[in-house]
Amino acid sequence: MTRTIPEWHGRTDDSAPPARVKARIVMAQGGICACGCGVKLGVAGEGVEFDHTMALILGGENRETNLRALRRPCHKRKTAHDVAQKSTEARKRGKHLGIAPKSARPLPGGRNSKFKIKIGGGIVPR
Ligand SMILES: [Zn+2]
Repeated sequence: MTRTIPEWHGRTDDSAPPARVKARIVMAQGGICACGCGVKLGVAGEGVEFDHTMALILGGENRETNLRALRRPCHKRKTAHDVAQKSTEARKRGKHLGIAPKSARPLPGGRNSKFKIKIGGGIVPR
């Protein structure tokens, strides 16, 4: 009977997993990229990167069960997706809370515009 190994949990979000944890993650995946592309990890000097399945910026935890090994291009794509999702959420939250940043160009005829639209339809400077 083997002893159970406690799950690694980073002290802070910046804590990098130690080599033994990285090895466990790669071995658990059978040495294959976890994104589903099916390509073997570490070929052609691509480098193995460790990705938080639920990104830290989206509330994920820095722990072993939330980590997976990806190839560099796959990790780049995943990170771009996470950042886009975070940006969309931030914009929606800001709009909901009424603190959305003003658009660069005011709507024509809006209160921030230099022009106003008269009831009759004419456009005149404010
Ligand atoms: Zn992949």
